[in-house]
Amino acid sequence: MGLKVCKFGGTSLADSAQFRKVRAILESDPERRFVVPSAPGKRTKDDPKITDLLYLCQTHVTQKVPFDEVFRLLAERYEQIACELGVKLDIRKPLAEVKKAIADGATADYVASRGEYLSGLILADFLGWPFIDAAEVIFFSRQGTLDLDRSLAALHARLGKTPQAVVPGFYGSTHDGKVKTFSRGGSDISGAIVAAGAKADVYENWTDVSGLLMADPRVVPGAKSIGKVTYRELRELAYMGATVLHDEAIFPVRRAAIPVNVRNTNAPDHSGTLILPEEHVRNDATGTITGIAGRKDFTVIALEKAMMNAEIGFGRKLLGVLESHGVSFEHCPSGIDTMSVVVADAAINGKLDAVLDDIRRECQPDDLDVYPQMALIATVGRGMAYIPGMAARVFGALAQAGVNIRMIDQGSSEINIIVGVQNSDFEKAMRAIYGAFVG
Ligand code: ASP
Repeated sequence: MGLKVCKFGGTSLADSAQFRKVRAILESDPERRFVVPSAPGKRTKDDPKITDLLYLCQTHVTQKVPFDEVFRLLAERYEQIACELGVKLDIRKPLAEVKKAIADGATADYVASRGEYLSGLILADFLGWPFIDAAEVIFFSRQGTLDLDRSLAALHARLGKTPQAVVPGFYGSTHDGKVKTFSRGGSDISGAIVAAGAKADVYENWTDVSGLLMADPRVVPGAKSIGKVTYRELRELAYMGATVLHDEAIFPVRRAAIPVNVRNTNAPDHSGTLILPEEHVRNDATGTITGIAGRKDFTVIALEKAMMNAEIGFGRKLLGVLESHGVSFEHCPSGIDTMSVVVADAAINGKLDAVLDDIRRECQPDDLDVYPQMALIATVGRGMAYIPGMAARVFGALAQAGVNIRMIDQGSSEINIIVGVQNSDFEKAMRAIYGAFVG
């Protein structure tokens, strides 16, 4: 029998009805043995998240302002959930302990971690599963970074002794036993660590959307969800602005070659998106793309110089100028006598004139042009490298839509074609490419 570790995000545990969905999901598959809950999140758009309320309580105390009102809001949320689920646990007791700790000046990390802790206590009771405090199995090093090896060893030992368990997300403990949280949204990483520690076959990340979408739905309305994506494709899409699980969050499972399945608590029959290690989909030339992502606000600095190709060190000088100004470059397409660098506006703003002066002096180009307000669009697909005509479809679609392509860059990974267009053409270009592959 396989083993699945399931992480549920804040909206999946926002009220008692959501807790019931979570239990139904867990009980429908005996392979789902370990669960990592978040703190209750928003029930509606304007609803506060428990974690935000906890941070607010803590800052009230540091500013010597009474926090009872804010605390009451979060306490009522938990009491209501516990009461509606009919759990045996008297949640008022741990709530009172948390309130006292806040009043006594507990750290922000400790206070924020109680969101997951309390939600884990309720869930464990509701499921009838053992509760394992994350502080006992997830560890940070002296430097304050995750101590992955120690955490994996502790989890492996603990989880090996129990058929099921609830391990709250978002926090662990430092070398001297203090509670420490990850950055916001950190339950994703907790789930990935638990999955790696349990040597799970799949890490299920349950949220409120049916997986990752092929394009930003605000730009491409009705964009379909992605069935399968490799870790590498995901990295390319995330770099270009697709909001997905961030790198840090999946690195423990990626390292262990464990697939991640992003699922929707509110649509549990939808298979969601499967994020797979490269070797699981080798030769999986689908003939289509996996997704499109893009970002606006880049500047292209383009140089031309006769016989550039014969000038040793030209590229180094150009990139050296950027380096000396502390500007990171995103892409560097080049031709025989041309070379350009693409930089994010946020990186070059305020420095452009000085950078151009230095480029003129160091590189002595015949021509130096600047193209501001550019957008980059990445069309990503693992099948692209082996199937002829994929690039033609991208360029054909853009031509038909009347979009002028200012720059083309196909990374050597061959799973990504990047085009640069005017900011004002961004939306049109995204829709045209999506339409060419998905219809
Ligand atoms: N509750 C924490 C937050 O809101 C962690 C999480 O949900 O992943 O950031």
